[in-house]
Amino acid sequence: MTALFDPLLTSALTLDALSAGLAGHDGIAARQHLRLTRSLDAAMRGSTFYREHLRGVIPGVTPLRNLPTVTRGELMVRFDDWVTDPKLKLGDIRQFIANPRRIGEAYLDKYMIWESSGTSHQPGVFVQDAHAMAVYDALEAVRRSTPRLLHRCFDPMFQTERVAFVGAIGGHFASVASILRLRRINPWMKTSVRCFSIMRATGSLVNELNAFAPTVIVTYPTAALVLADKTTRRSLRVTPQEVWTGGEKLTVSARQRIEHALGCTVRDSYGSSEFFAMGWECARGRMHANTDWMILEPIDEHGRPVPAGQRSHSTLLTNLANHVQPLIRYELGDQLTMSPKRCECGSPLPVIEVEGRTDDLLEMAGRDGQPVILLPLALTTVLEDEAGVFDFQLRQRGLHTLVLLLNMQGPQAADAAARCRTALKRFAAAQGVTLCRIMIELGKPASAGRSGKAQRVVASKVHVRH
Ligand SMILES: [Zn+2]
Repeated sequence: MTALFDPLLTSALTLDALSAGLAGHDGIAARQHLRLTRSLDAAMRGSTFYREHLRGVIPGVTPLRNLPTVTRGELMVRFDDWVTDPKLKLGDIRQFIANPRRIGEAYLDKYMIWESSGTSHQPGVFVQDAHAMAVYDALEAVRRSTPRLLHRCFDPMFQTERVAFVGAIGGHFASVASILRLRRINPWMKTSVRCFSIMRATGSLVNELNAFAPTVIVTYPTAALVLADKTTRRSLRVTPQEVWTGGEKLTVSARQRIEHALGCTVRDSYGSSEFFAMGWECARGRMHANTDWMILEPIDEHGRPVPAGQRSHSTLLTNLANHVQPLIRYELGDQLTMSPKRCECGSPLPVIEVEGRTDDLLEMAGRDGQPVILLPLALTTVLEDEAGVFDFQLRQRGLHTLVLLLNMQGPQAADAAARCRTALKRFAAAQGVTLCRIMIELGKPASAGRSGKAQRVVASKVHVRH
């Protein structure tokens, strides 16, 4: 079983990522142009979908802005025509994904498979080839700025670290699959890198983390907030040197609370199943987009370009690294602001501010009225993975009630509602919420949250007394 790793290619790409960082704006633009031409060429030669979709386009000549955009829904219904390797069939891949024991394993000995729901209400399946993985590895190695530079110089391979990933680990999600892949490549990581499930009751998670004593914690901002709270209450007694976050919006106040409680620096990142290593914070705390290997086009609600300095309605992504499942002007859905200014750190890569998911932590009542925190990512994972629903909004009403809005009707909706009720009740009970009423309202679309994007988990204003 291969781990889908090409050391020579990774070394070459790491050197290129280093030199791109010194090459200035023109160096980045030249790389983009060359890589876009190759990506278009590969897409139009190997993908039946793109041959039709891009008819009349001349790679290297037709400007990117003249190319049609594409959505996840359009691509997923034509999956077998979208990919450039005819051996990749969606039906077979779904069987592979159904087996959690194969997370992080190479599919057909040469592909990584990631499943994603994101916030687009449409589950996606993403295939990465060895070249794409080598690009992500190189970007992760070079672009991630460390708060402990000297320590990292002596230990570039993390051999003295104990890394805890705290997240959703039951499916083929990009984060956990990438970590398990790294463990297959680097045998010493079997004991020094561990995955912890956010689906576990918080008490068990805290005990497991205390026993492991991580030096680096990799997690979501909301999960890091819960760990910070447990540290303040002295049940969690770990002393990490770094916390890496991603996947949700990290607010200024959340960052301060996490850094203060855990006593270390937080570094945020931006990634997706469509492009794993989209951005990392520099030493100045600004997020730089890896535009030597991808193109981001912020757009408004009519698909028109949004100038730098203004927040977009959505963003088009063009992945320049992955030729097996091309993404060209793909509607990512993320809202971001491209900064008009260069960063003082000297990087030629543009600074972006990403809105990210802004789901709430839910504080419910447990035994004897003690507060129990339910993580939004755990709740959405329960609904997606166990109940199989994707278009929903979960609203807290008081300390004992959750209202689930499902945008479905008819007999299928009744079945889905029953599955949701069972899955939510089981999860809440496992977390220690002794009395949890689930109310389900069918045919209701989710309303927009604070960011203008539909929030999927919304807290009520009532809080348990601490
Ligand atoms: Zn910077």
